[in-house]
Amino acid sequence: FRIGSQELGRFVAFLARNGFPDCQAGFSFPSGLFSGKIKHGDNMQQIFIQQKTHVGSVIEPDPQQRHHLQRVLRMKEGETLRVIDAEGAVFCGVLDGAGQIQITELLDEDRELPVTLTLVAGLIKGERWDWLLQKCTELGVSRIVPFQSSRTVVKLEQDKIDKKLERWQKIVQEASQQCKRTQRPQVCAPIELADAGAWRSEQNFVAYEDEALHGGLLSAQLEKGRSVTLVIGPEGGFSPAEIERLQAQGYRCCSLGKRILRAETAAVAAVCLAGAVLEG
Ligand code: SAH
Repeated sequence: FRIGSQELGRFVAFLARNGFPDCQAGFSFPSGLFSGKIKHGDNMQQIFIQQKTHVGSVIEPDPQQRHHLQRVLRMKEGETLRVIDAEGAVFCGVLDGAGQIQITELLDEDRELPVTLTLVAGLIKGERWDWLLQKCTELGVSRIVPFQSSRTVVKLEQDKIDKKLERWQKIVQEASQQCKRTQRPQVCAPIELADAGAWRSEQNFVAYEDEALHGGLLSAQLEKGRSVTLVIGPEGGFSPAEIERLQAQGYRCCSLGKRILRAETAAVAAVCLAGAVLEG
């Protein structure tokens, strides 16, 4: 029998959700009736929308999203995708002929860490900062707060900050989409290290390589179930005065192992160690 491609997309999505996992591999139908690949589960593309939504509603993607879906991902009418709404709820949607997304199903998914994880990281040069943003997003960080301090090498021009923030937010957005996160981390405007106290959580650590000062590995000091802030230094590390001030603000020194890591590796290692404890 003949059904429209929209219904077919929904039907196959329904099958995939209800114990017919072969649907994940893709269906091919006689051209004219339906052609294109049905993707579901982990293979589905994902977009974030600004508003709250529900099953049965129709989403009008913004021009950028439309371009991404139709030109970059080459999604066709009837194909399914994951839609994350403003509250982090995950839905299955089907692209219709008009380029709109019909919300068909609520998916019970959560890929976030159980508590908020804030990374306060010293600004580092160009590509290495971009890499830090991307990797820490993949590892589940909730918020990234860049800081400048006495040993910061990069000079940020005040009038370029908005442009930079926009670019950083884009990196984080793409990384979130790629790793199927249900929340996008927030990238904040750069602060001065002296103001790091404002970003404290229920437990607070500064990664410091000086063995005399730190109280052991981050993973050994961290407790499950309580929000965390991690402070990581820039290429040049922290001055003793900066460490003293952070300690006075309530940040405990912790180690990331016996080797001295580059700043971007240190950030990734710290988020990874914290994630292992929080999710474990
Ligand atoms: N102090 C050195 C290294 C800075 S490494 C220097 O002056 O060049 C950059 C940052 O990574 C440090 O400030 C620290 O926050 C973190 N880091 C690197 N290796 C670490 C380790 N083994 N333990 C804890 N923190 C570390």
